[in-house]
Amino acid sequence: MSTQYQERPLAAPIIDAATRSFWNATQEGRLTARRCTSCDKLHWYPRPLCPFCQGDTEWEPLSGNGTIYSVSVTRRAGPIPYAIAYVALDEGITVLTNIVDCDLDELRIGQRVQFCVKAAEDGTNIPMFTPSRA
Ligand SMILES: [Zn+2]
Repeated sequence: MSTQYQERPLAAPIIDAATRSFWNATQEGRLTARRCTSCDKLHWYPRPLCPFCQGDTEWEPLSGNGTIYSVSVTRRAGPIPYAIAYVALDEGITVLTNIVDCDLDELRIGQRVQFCVKAAEDGTNIPMFTPSRA
């Protein structure tokens, strides 16, 4: 079986003061997260206070490379199927995301993926992942 990726409408994200820098970076094609300045742990999603120790956090660029931890193809949420996945980034955090621009039925746990973006209805770039070209 083969399910080729199709573009689908994406809702615009809610952007507030705490996440504006993240979305600005995404708009430039860069993936970022926040690291604690006290305990040095990286976390996801980005929060101004560390979820482990309540310390201050600062933005850090990520490689955008990771591995599929789990994946499923959703066919019932609308007319266009899509792949939703947890991706374990090389930096050690796990993000819930979509895998795009591929045959969705070929996706496998452990497969290498890399960061990419898809434009939402308002033009904001939404972070997603696609199978690694390397
Ligand atoms: Zn901390």
